[in-house]
Amino acid sequence: MARKIGSRYTANQILGRGSAGTVWLGEGPEGPVAVKLLREDLSCDQELVGRFVQERTALLGLEHPHIVTVRDLVVDGNDLALVMDLVRGTDLRTRLERERRLSPEAAVAIVADVADALAAAHAAGVVHRDVKPENVLLDMQGPLGPGGAHPALLTDFGVAKLIDSPKRTRATKIIGTPDYLAPEIVEGLPPRAAVDIYALATVLYELLAGFTPFGGGHPGAVLRRHVTETVVPLPGIPEELWQLIVQCLAKAPASRLRASELAARLREQLPLLVGMPPLDVDEPDLFGEAAEESAPAEPPAGEPERRRGAVSLVPGAKPDSNRDTHTSMRVPAPDELAGGAHGTARAPRATGAPRPGSARHRATVRRRRITLGVAGVAVAAVVGVGAYLASSGGDDQPPQDTHSTSAP
Ligand code: ADP
Ligand code: MG
Repeated sequence: MARKIGSRYTANQILGRGSAGTVWLGEGPEGPVAVKLLREDLSCDQELVGRFVQERTALLGLEHPHIVTVRDLVVDGNDLALVMDLVRGTDLRTRLERERRLSPEAAVAIVADVADALAAAHAAGVVHRDVKPENVLLDMQGPLGPGGAHPALLTDFGVAKLIDSPKRTRATKIIGTPDYLAPEIVEGLPPRAAVDIYALATVLYELLAGFTPFGGGHPGAVLRRHVTETVVPLPGIPEELWQLIVQCLAKAPASRLRASELAARLREQLPLLVGMPPLDVDEPDLFGEAAEESAPAEPPAGEPERRRGAVSLVPGAKPDSNRDTHTSMRVPAPDELAGGAHGTARAPRATGAPRPGSARHRATVRRRRITLGVAGVAVAAVVGVGAYLASSGGDDQPPQDTHSTSAP
């Protein structure tokens, strides 16, 4: 059923539902548009509406071939809507779910497009803060690029920031999607451009592997892994591509590449990846390491396969592996990051760890699956946090933060 949005737009049909609201296929004075109607609890928040209006200029100003441009912001009664370019296609999450893993060439082509989008945004002083496959749209009407990839467009710019009002996210709260959150955010530092690079490297890893490097289980456990764990190499991945991922997943924000450099380095790789099939990667810790002390080799009949298991920070909390944007997540206290009485964590992988597939690697994986004792966990995690804090001391990122872009 069609509904009016402000005086200029009609919303005709639901295209998709997201965590911040519902996206409609709409019609405006200049033709078809996509209209995101924000959730009622967000649109009823007077402070958020104020920020929405205040941020108009920054949001509307971003124009780039790989950014879904916001054309208009509508505040109409209880409706709060973003009017965007319509992208005819699908989002990257849907494609990944369909194909499970992408070919390296297609993955790199898509991520290079998103890196271009981020370069433009960062140059304009805007940090995205919620880069993930759900927020990458594939334009099926655009020309086919390397690896048969359609052009990729980054969407949801500024939405994370709008929702991140002081009231919703006090000093101890963070927003984002746990799997893609940079360690410095977990540590409570303000989000700068490098958080988008970390999230995008996570997306690249996920497109190649079929799972994120630190995801699975309760959000608190995921956050802890970002701070304390080292990414496990993917078997068969070309070395230069792997090095790019490792560099962009660096715990220290200053060690990561800038978006423009990442885009250029990724495109350099493309000719080397032509015709390479998707990587042959095993899902890690399928049945959950917390259950592994007495773990059967197969999941019990009738029980769904879990990705990686984890023990929650909160006793009795339900596992939460969804990839919704969390609009208010608590920053774990240092003792929680260190494992705590109820937590377990895996030891960070030492540098020089064995290549995947080797006998040494298989032995390491088996060892990793043994749940660590609480004392060992606390030591490992504290070492990890300490190393991160030491290495992140020299962050010299420019102040590319959305907070510097307030509209007049
Ligand atoms: P949220 O960020 O609130 O979770 P999304 O922006 O991801 O919501 O939108 C939900 C779905 O709506 C997307 O997966 C996509 O299918 C569709 N969608 C979003 N923006 C557009 C657009 N500009 N053009 C076409 N479809 C869109
Ligand atoms: Mg989204």
